[in-house]
Order: sequence, then C-alpha cells, then structure tokens
Amino acid sequence: MKAALFDEIDSITLIDKDIPEAKPNEAVLKVITTGICGSEIHAYKGTHPFRKPPSVLGHEAVGIIEKLGSDVSDFNIGDTVTIEPHYGCGECRECLAGDYHLCNQKTVLGTKKWDGSFAEYMAVPASTMYKLPESLSPSVGVLAEPLAVGVHAVKKADVQKGDKVAVLGAGPIGLLTAVAARSAGAETICITDALEHNLAAGKKIGATDAVNVKEESIVDYVHEHVGSVDKVFVTIGLKSAADEALHIVKKKGKIVSIAIFEGDTGIDLNKVFMSEIEIIGSSMYVKEDFEQAISILQEDKYPLDILTKHQFPMDEINTAMSVAQTKKDGAIKVLINPSHS
Ligand SMILES: [Zn+2]
Ligand SMILES: [Zn+2]
Repeated sequence: MKAALFDEIDSITLIDKDIPEAKPNEAVLKVITTGICGSEIHAYKGTHPFRKPPSVLGHEAVGIIEKLGSDVSDFNIGDTVTIEPHYGCGECRECLAGDYHLCNQKTVLGTKKWDGSFAEYMAVPASTMYKLPESLSPSVGVLAEPLAVGVHAVKKADVQKGDKVAVLGAGPIGLLTAVAARSAGAETICITDALEHNLAAGKKIGATDAVNVKEESIVDYVHEHVGSVDKVFVTIGLKSAADEALHIVKKKGKIVSIAIFEGDTGIDLNKVFMSEIEIIGSSMYVKEDFEQAISILQEDKYPLDILTKHQFPMDEINTAMSVAQTKKDGAIKVLINPSHS
C-alpha cells in the first residue's frame, strides 16, 4: 500500500508499505478521507511538541473496515467509521480519573507509536472507532475530530443558552468551536480572522458577527456592539489574541485556550486578578465529546461541507500540505483521499 512518510522537516515522501494486519482487538481500515490538521502543519514546520519525523502523520479520518481482529464484536466488515485518535495507558492518575486525554504515556495516532491515516490502510484498536451513519458524507464525517476539540472547549467554558462568546481565529478549529458553541445555545458568536473566506464560512455555519482583524479591532468592535462577552475561545497562538481576549471578556468571564503558542503568551495577570477572569486550558477531548460531535454532525443543521472543498489524492500530498499551510484559493480544511488516485 501507499503511505506518506513524514521523513524530515518540510518533507513528506510516498513509500510502499505492507498493509497492516489486525491484532485481536483491532480493525484495519481502508482510509477514505483524512484531514490535514493545524498540528500536522506545526509538525511539518518542526514546531510541534511531539509530532516528529520519521512518522506517518494523519489523525482525522474516515475509513471502511476491511479486516477485523478475532476479539472485536461490535463492528462488521464494511462499516464506515471515524477514529478517536488517542488512548491512555489506563493506569496513571489521569487515566484512572477518566482524563485519559491528559495521560503522559498516551498513544496518539500519527506519531512514531501509531502510524497515522496518511496511508491507504491503517490499523486501529476497536475501542477508538465510532460508527458513522450512512447519511453522513465522509467529507463531513471527517470533521468529528476537530469538532470534538470545539465541543470539549465549549464544555470547559460551560457555555449556557443565551451566552455571548467570541472565537479568536476562524481556522477549522475556530469555526468548529463556533458550531459547538451555537449548538450549546450561545446566541452571539463573534469570530475573528485575517482571511475573508474563513469569516464568510463562519457566517454560514452559525457565527453572528465576523471581524476581519486586518480592518477592525475586535476589542473596539465588541465594546461598541456587544459590550463584553461571557466567554472567549483563543484558537490562534498569537500574543495579540491573548491580549484581545482579556479586553473583551466580562468580569468573572472565562477564557479558554485551545491554541499552540510558538512564543510568549504575554498574559496580563493583573487584569486576570482585577476582573476575576478564569483562564482555562482545553486539550483535545474524551469519548463523550467525540460522541457529541458526531451527533452534531448528524443533525445536519449547518452546511459543514463548505469547510472541506479542497481535496487531493495521495500523490499530491505535498501540494495538499502547502495549500493547508497557505490557505490559498479559499482552503479551510484540506482533505487527502488515499483511496483515489
Ligand atoms: Zn487535529
Ligand atoms: Zn495514563
């Protein structure tokens, strides 16, 4: 089979590999479509904390079960599934508390420990698979993983019906966090970005206000039109976004960070103290978030297929990585379809 090996910084090479076998608790999937995540772009540039070469990247995937291990009983060959791309050691303090997403020893898809989905086939433990309904197209089903990131963040922020929220950064994670906030009942959802096509997509999938930071300050916008917001989600790792969050959140409001910062965050702790602001981290998701993400996709309330218009065969993976990085031609979430060429 073909697999895309991330062999060094800035380079992915197609290689030939044996199709994996399914261990007793595993399935082997034929990968139908797989998304390029911001974390893969960080990896490609050499700035991700643990996604390092050599490895097969890819952790957002929809596949069809081709082989089933002898101990797997809840699935059938031919089922369409998506994957929750991590599992814990099962023994540490975090795992025992149900917080396996924070396990130091956790196994993550698309790393040296577990070959990712930028390949024609992949082996996965059955415990990480979720059946997708036939009605869901693979190019929407593949959003379950990034949407679960948003669902987890919205839960950590405790978004309530009628809340006013801001989502700073309207890339795929920002946009899907807006969807999750909408689904939790938020009424005002202000998104920001420097790219007009991201903002336009946001308006179609539930954001009420879209601010282009190249033209307008989100701080001025919120002060003028909204007053202040209850919750802010920081989905872009820029010092300016951390600062904006502190200036638009209400007193006793919550700021949730879901971004990888490459430098200093510059958080003004005096402001945090004076206004009793809560700053919360949100890292990936757990099973309940994943299930909720799939049910939001299934409700089909938002035209989420507009996020995944840019799709490439495996042979063009380096082009796909570059489009995902530059966001050119209106790209939002770039997909690779390993089984077509
Ligand atoms: Zn991801
Ligand atoms: Zn653990």
